[in-house]
Amino acid sequence: MGIDWESTEDKLARELTKSRYRHTMGVMYTACCLAMRYGADIEQARLAGLLHDCAKCIPNKKKIDICRKKHIPVTEFEIEHPVLLHAKLGKYMAETDYGVQDPEVLSAIEWHTTGRPDMTVLEKIIYISDYIEPGRDKAPHLPEIRNLAFTDLDQCIREILEDTVSYLSRNPKAMDPMTLDAYKFYSERSSNGS
Ligand code: FE
Ligand code: FE
Repeated sequence: MGIDWESTEDKLARELTKSRYRHTMGVMYTACCLAMRYGADIEQARLAGLLHDCAKCIPNKKKIDICRKKHIPVTEFEIEHPVLLHAKLGKYMAETDYGVQDPEVLSAIEWHTTGRPDMTVLEKIIYISDYIEPGRDKAPHLPEIRNLAFTDLDQCIREILEDTVSYLSRNPKAMDPMTLDAYKFYSERSSNGS
């Protein structure tokens, strides 16, 4: 891929707040460790981890404006919850601003917030890393989930989705339908024993 890591990191550091950049580094290194564990491509994991939140610090209104201007399809739910747009917009900016062409890296960025049914290994790695990176401390069951991340990728995804769905169901209006689809997919998969 021939990535210039130094200039990519420098550019990103200018786009993100200090705390978001620290989170990004945590996700990037966690994703690399999971790639090592599961025999995934380390460079893809590193790049997707590095860029997953590249659109996060754009003001919400501007997020919507850019999506409209660039003809990025946006759901009604995303207009109501524009913070979610940083995933889609992140994919777009990774491609246009950071020159990423690898569709697997781009889709890992696109799905890192909601998850989706039947994720690729790289998508799972980024979704999980975002949740467990060392700077995180608010989610319930973090020690178990961190352990599961390195023992059973699908079970880890299921636990995170279950906790996310139960957290969001206190305010059902805040739940992206895709998260619920992902949860159904992974919980049915476990009851089938596969
Ligand atoms: Fe994010
Ligand atoms: Fe993140």
